[in-house]
Amino acid sequence: MVAVPRALYVHIPFCLSLCPYCDFVVLAGRAARGPASRVAETVRALHVELDLRADALAAAGVEAAPLASVYLGGGTPSLLSAEQVDGLLDHAARRFGLASDAEVTIEVNPGPADRGDLAGFRAAGVNRVSIGAQSLDAEVLAHLGRRHRPEDVADTVAAARAAGFANSNLDLLYDVPGQTPESWQRTLTGAVELDPTHVSAYALTLDDPEAEGLTGPVGDHLPVTPGARKWRSRARDGQDEDRAADEYATACASLAAAGYRHYELSNWARPGSESRHNLAYWRRDAHEALGPGAHAFDGVSVRRWNAARLDAYLAALLPAEGVAPCLPPGGTDRIDAETARSEAAILGLRLDDGITAESAAEPVVAAGIAWALAAGLAERIEREGPRIALTPRGRLLSNEVFVRLLPDADAV
Ligand code: SF4
Repeated sequence: MVAVPRALYVHIPFCLSLCPYCDFVVLAGRAARGPASRVAETVRALHVELDLRADALAAAGVEAAPLASVYLGGGTPSLLSAEQVDGLLDHAARRFGLASDAEVTIEVNPGPADRGDLAGFRAAGVNRVSIGAQSLDAEVLAHLGRRHRPEDVADTVAAARAAGFANSNLDLLYDVPGQTPESWQRTLTGAVELDPTHVSAYALTLDDPEAEGLTGPVGDHLPVTPGARKWRSRARDGQDEDRAADEYATACASLAAAGYRHYELSNWARPGSESRHNLAYWRRDAHEALGPGAHAFDGVSVRRWNAARLDAYLAALLPAEGVAPCLPPGGTDRIDAETARSEAAILGLRLDDGITAESAAEPVVAAGIAWALAAGLAERIEREGPRIALTPRGRLLSNEVFVRLLPDADAV
């Protein structure tokens, strides 16, 4: 059985330059703009993939239901023209349907050269912008290799508002080497003053996708450049677990004081402005995905991804004349029932309303939940029935809880 996808992710794999910590599937420089730009052909390929995915769902007997969310992520999707965004949204609406109140998000980089045509995106039907601010401290931004300045973030928020966007998210990063507690506090205060409806704050992660075997021909990551590898190795030395915990606590306190609901471990929203798209991921709803490196889920037991390499993606979808296009290379993971229950508990506990007492009693997670309750990292709450949620301390130590909810947790 396959569930009807209610969310669609579209990956735009281009940025003007590459940030050294970035693990997303991104090509920069000549591929992103100018005469050798590959943006237009990638957009053509996305249209072909959209048709093939919709055909595959129809062939599997999945009835279309209007999408509740479309998310244009990247990369820097704001590098697309308004016409390209309009074309993709129109095509998605024709093939999948788009609910009249759907959340339609575009990720926007705040630099003047990559902010894009906000008014055009709004006119195309986008109603939410997610702005990659990361920090409001010029030194931290420079250290991260970002192109924009703090003023550009404020300008982008103002431009989005002027273009008619009522919903905006600011993405922030903490545990950044060289970031002082004072600098982080100033970033949070500045972010609150800009009054977005949603704030995401994630710790900087510096995993090595090559070491994890994710960069092969069907891997969903690209190899890390030698320069980025060096930068990461230096940056890792400057990270500090205790400082990261303090900065997370500062974010929790500052954003709560400003009236944001801490509805997910790393996400805060004005009531009613929670990200519907990300809620679909945390609730394990079926979602479709297009573009190199994009991940989809059938809502039950199959996770699928496209390989990260753009050449192979384009070759499959835009073959020589006379050759039929086919779905791009990638992989699938089939999840057994026990893993699915473990996954549902871990994802559900990321949310402030946690999981039902019934799912907390599933054999695969029951011992881990009992441990978390005894350790004060989880608590019983009442929200339309008995539920289990993480405590504030449990949010800080969520990995300690999650590792105990895995099917092989006996080894912990
Ligand atoms: S702007 Fe974002 S997506 Fe682009 S390279 Fe930097 S971190 Fe990656």
